[in-house]
Amino acid sequence: MNSFFDKIKQGANIVSDKAQVTIELTKISTQISSKNKEVDKLLLQIGSEAHQAFRANNLLSAEPRIEEISKQIAVIQRDIDILEVKAKELKNEKECVCGKIVALDTRFCPVCGNKFDPQVTVVDAIPSGTQTVDLDK
Ligand SMILES: [Zn+2]
Repeated sequence: MNSFFDKIKQGANIVSDKAQVTIELTKISTQISSKNKEVDKLLLQIGSEAHQAFRANNLLSAEPRIEEISKQIAVIQRDIDILEVKAKELKNEKECVCGKIVALDTRFCPVCGNKFDPQVTVVDAIPSGTQTVDLDK
């Protein structure tokens, strides 16, 4: 039983190598760009709704629809934010409150001096050394 879980753990470690990180980052950036396209589409819809209401001489009639679409955009935007944080973690980076991107293990921001919470840990941290698998065994 134990060795079964050990194997799963080992497998997880093996896939978190540099090549896998690149694959993950590509996946995330594809997701981000498709979500950005969704946002663009919704923004166009807002414009169209507003213009139709304008032509009907009743701009305010578009408001409920615009509010609804704006909420959809906010949800997608939040997903994008989460994906961006994930991408930074994969690259071993984090963002300071001031906007500066620093290495994940940085304790003080070089720009604003902000002290980072040392308790922050990243799930599936990328091992710094190269892992080799002994296939001969
Ligand atoms: Zn800072």
